[in-house]
Amino acid sequence: MFSEFYRKEGDRIVCTLCRHYCKLSDGQTGVCGVNAHEGGRLRNLVYGKVAALNIDPIEKKPLYHFLPATTALSLGTVGCNFQCPFCQNWHISQSNAIEASQEVTPEQIVDAAVREGCSTIAYTYNEPTIFYPFARDVAKLAHAAGLKNVFVSNGMESPEVLADMKGLIDGFNIDLKSFDPAYYKKTLKGSHAGVLDTLKRLKSEGIWVEVTTLIVPGDNDSDEELGQTARFIAEELDPYTPWHISAFHPDYKVQDRDPTPAETLRRAEAIGRQAGLAYIYMGNVPEDGNTHCPDCQARVIARSGFYVVENRLVDGQCPECGRAIEGVWG
Ligand code: SF4
Repeated sequence: MFSEFYRKEGDRIVCTLCRHYCKLSDGQTGVCGVNAHEGGRLRNLVYGKVAALNIDPIEKKPLYHFLPATTALSLGTVGCNFQCPFCQNWHISQSNAIEASQEVTPEQIVDAAVREGCSTIAYTYNEPTIFYPFARDVAKLAHAAGLKNVFVSNGMESPEVLADMKGLIDGFNIDLKSFDPAYYKKTLKGSHAGVLDTLKRLKSEGIWVEVTTLIVPGDNDSDEELGQTARFIAEELDPYTPWHISAFHPDYKVQDRDPTPAETLRRAEAIGRQAGLAYIYMGNVPEDGNTHCPDCQARVIARSGFYVVENRLVDGQCPECGRAIEGVWG
């Protein structure tokens, strides 16, 4: 399927799906491996070619303040515009085996979501920005069917794509993987400034955003860097943006390091609290991620793993003091 997200520059075209802005000669494919210049147009090679399709609790995305205890039909393709050496989905993200994917139409995706009682479609597993032409067609049908759309993303969406997503993508979980621009560039092959800009744009549009930081021992676990990350969220986004601090496990090319110790996550949590963040959740560890009212500290949502065991919110408000709890509650 050809995509409209490009501009011409002489004989080349520039893909405008993400902030890499790959300049492609005819026949060339971009960094992600799934958008190619074909005869003056941009073809999205993974349109309708799904490499992973599951029904997940929305909490697994993770989104803890977005229609709790509902399910999301979750899909991804092969390819990625990052090359994180610890990727937990590297089998698809770093693959170019498009031909091994399952062929589906947007209608089939939305029909399946409705049939299975899902409330949301989640574009996830690999970086969804690189398959936005497909996600966009699914998302439009999903809205028409009364479903919501969420992106689980590394934050490299171009401003052009972010503008197009307005009114279509209802929530985001964005990875803020580090606060070191050189690490983003050299190790992840992405742009730190670009991710920060995406986060600020989404917030300024009033779109629901939660942030995830995978804490990799030795890479991004210093007090200084965790403090910079937490302060950015609290001061440049807002203190009520949920921050998911997630434990690393050896995967893909990073096999020589121990998993993130629980005390590192607790240290990160303390740093986040000091920065003023109200909602901090630990991921990839056997900790229950409960939501507490920032004013009276009452427990308003109790979770066990990815499952909600009690939701005491009343019209999105704390049942004890009536404070509105930030989120999309349906
Ligand atoms: S989606 Fe990003 S990485 Fe892929 S071709 Fe377009 S600009 Fe390049």
